[in-house]
Amino acid sequence: MMEVLNSRHTRANISLTAYRRNLRYFAEKCEPSLIAPVIKADGYGHGAIPLAKVAESLNCPYLCVAFLEEALELRSAGIDLPILVLNYFAPESTPLFIQERLTATIFSFQQLEALAPFIDAGKLSVHVKVDTGMSRLGVKPDEVERLIRQIREKRGIQIEGLYTHFATADEPDPAFARKQYDRFVGLRTHFHQSIRYFHVSNSAAAQYLPLNLFDFIRLGISSYGLDARNEKRPAPLLPVLSWETVLSHVKIVQEGESVSYGRTFIADRTMTIGTVPVGYADGYNRLLSNRGAALVKGRRCPIVGRVCMDQFMIDLSHVPSPYAGDRVMLIGFDGSEEISCEEIARHLSTINYEVTCQISKRVPRIYTAE
Ligand SMILES: *Cc1c(COP(=O)(O)O)cnc(C)c1O
Repeated sequence: MMEVLNSRHTRANISLTAYRRNLRYFAEKCEPSLIAPVIKADGYGHGAIPLAKVAESLNCPYLCVAFLEEALELRSAGIDLPILVLNYFAPESTPLFIQERLTATIFSFQQLEALAPFIDAGKLSVHVKVDTGMSRLGVKPDEVERLIRQIREKRGIQIEGLYTHFATADEPDPAFARKQYDRFVGLRTHFHQSIRYFHVSNSAAAQYLPLNLFDFIRLGISSYGLDARNEKRPAPLLPVLSWETVLSHVKIVQEGESVSYGRTFIADRTMTIGTVPVGYADGYNRLLSNRGAALVKGRRCPIVGRVCMDQFMIDLSHVPSPYAGDRVMLIGFDGSEEISCEEIARHLSTINYEVTCQISKRVPRIYTAE
């Protein structure tokens, strides 16, 4: 593969080997349930197409994306697996589902009525979404039977699946997830003769809930080697993404001198300061100003001053003979030290999901597979 021109040596390394191992790990752990990788939002920022190819080579039953455009992108890349679109689409885009053999989610009576005029061209494959407690998309459990009856009256629509989504599977107390699960189990018993696929599980349920997860697991965050509780990554999971760059500049800052916009950092001693050619336009969040850290030669280097659009500064005082061009790890391992997505997420009061989704298109994704 030709190396992408990358004048600042900034890259997100995506290990397809780690991704494959994570999928395999869950396939074994959750057997006989199969794995349906969730690669919405361009694979949580990792790049959906290469991940889809891995899923294809493992014979996954489905891929899941949020929106129609994400599914079309996969079809354009030659991905042939069934694709379940989890989220809303405008009724007039219904013919594209039929044309591209995509599976839609039906989650309300209003939606069904609105899309019905657009399906006479062929068979629309759908999964029906039940709201067992998330209050996002889906009909209530006691409305499922009526919705399914109405769908079947339309003809032109083939119901392939029934599913729901947990609100609290990542929390230590399983009580509410159990309540949602029990609501779904009743429906499964009722419909299992006439519907092929039943699915409830996201990553958190697969990682933490000892339940029968039915036909397949919609596996997102954990497939990327990230912890569904945004805590310490469990040992079998391998992080798929690391993010590196190099030092652009190294200099001495004297006691009393300030660093970056707003002079929020003032040196209290003579310090060696490095400049890093990555900023918030790359998705390196400005809230990491004076908080986060990066790794140089296996040493933790705190961020000093504000993160700018294209660069930020770090304290190199504990790094032996730092030099412009030395590698800087923003996410990932260097020696025995690691900056994890979970650590960054904690600085930002958010979850690891948002950290990888935010890495912008200015950062090339470089794929490796052994
Ligand atoms: C995003 C999404 C998932 C995947 O969730 P993870 O927590 O990343 O595993 C599963 N199901 C639905 C409906 C989703 O929107």
